[in-house]
Amino acid sequence: NRKIVLASRPVGAPTADNFRLEQTVIPTIAAGEILLRSVYLSLDPYMRGRMSDAKSYADPVAVGEVMVGGTVCQIEQSNHADFAQGEWVLSYSGWQDYAVSNGDGLIKLGMQPTHPSYALGVMGMPGFTAYMGLLDIGQPKPGDTIVVAAATGAVGSMVGQIGKIKGCRVVGVAGGEEKCRYAKDVLGFDDCIDHKADDFAVQLAAACDKGIDIYYENVGGKVFDAVLPLLNTGARIPLCGLISQYNATELPQGPDRMSMLMGTLLIKRIKMQGFIIFDDYADRYDEFATDMSQWLAEGKIHYREDLVQGLENAPQAFIGLLDGKNFGKLVIQTNQA
Ligand code: NDP
Repeated sequence: NRKIVLASRPVGAPTADNFRLEQTVIPTIAAGEILLRSVYLSLDPYMRGRMSDAKSYADPVAVGEVMVGGTVCQIEQSNHADFAQGEWVLSYSGWQDYAVSNGDGLIKLGMQPTHPSYALGVMGMPGFTAYMGLLDIGQPKPGDTIVVAAATGAVGSMVGQIGKIKGCRVVGVAGGEEKCRYAKDVLGFDDCIDHKADDFAVQLAAACDKGIDIYYENVGGKVFDAVLPLLNTGARIPLCGLISQYNATELPQGPDRMSMLMGTLLIKRIKMQGFIIFDDYADRYDEFATDMSQWLAEGKIHYREDLVQGLENAPQAFIGLLDGKNFGKLVIQTNQA
């Protein structure tokens, strides 16, 4: 039984030394318990926050403890009346092969789900985040211009595609030519701008010739700087994530532009609202699941997974996620089904 624990807290970008692979015996289960065997592990940006002891909306992982994370598992053994051996479940068993559960919080996926790993992406937390942030906070109307960064990632790819379904003009922002081409050719975005280009802000302005009505914020930093002057009166900003800042150890240098930001929000009556998906919207999951399964069945949603083989490769893959190395939803195949 392999597990990856937090060996030390990172300062700045995480490194391989912050993680440690440990070998333990496979746990045994008591009456009423279930033994879970992980097949897929989701890697997500929020895990950077759990590695740090800075105050956040959830407690940090303790040093020496298993890294947390959503998993899709098969039931290896069951002493629980409601769960059968071989059944698939969505769980939160973290970066390890085996875990013991009493059934609380497990979501059943059936005996033979068609795409079990989708529960970690398009049909799970990231898809739900895109859906609620865009529709509830963004309030898209046909003809609106939406800008979304990390455009080919788990959340951004869904934001843009849902925006297209709602009749909006969608402009993505992504790192590199290949991701931008994919956003346009496969995801159907109207345009996609490479944030690594020297004239990124100029290109973004040209792609948004009618301004921006919704900026779905995933990254912050220089992307937000380029977006701010383009926002229209009455624009909405679902504040979902700020990945460009997750490894920062201090506030950025330079002049204080807070008054400019506040002035823009005031004059243009812009709404900016943060949200934490399960804290704010847990009771609306069914609404999302109904729409998303229908869109998938109709071929209106494309979903790309970046599937990395082997639990031992999770630390490197996670370090890469914070630096744009993933292309699509990052998932680790921890074990074969
Ligand atoms: P992604 O699959 O999009 O992967 C992260 C991507 O972020 C990278 O591939 C990279 O894409 C981009 N990125 C990294 N660093 C930078 C940078 N400095 N500047 C611009 N882009 C950068 O991750 P997710 O879809 O899982 O998450 C997207 C965002 O949503 C994150 O901020 C995350 O924290 C947030 N989130 C928030 C939730 C909530 O409840 N509020 C729930 C789930 C996610 P590229 O190469 O294209 O730049």
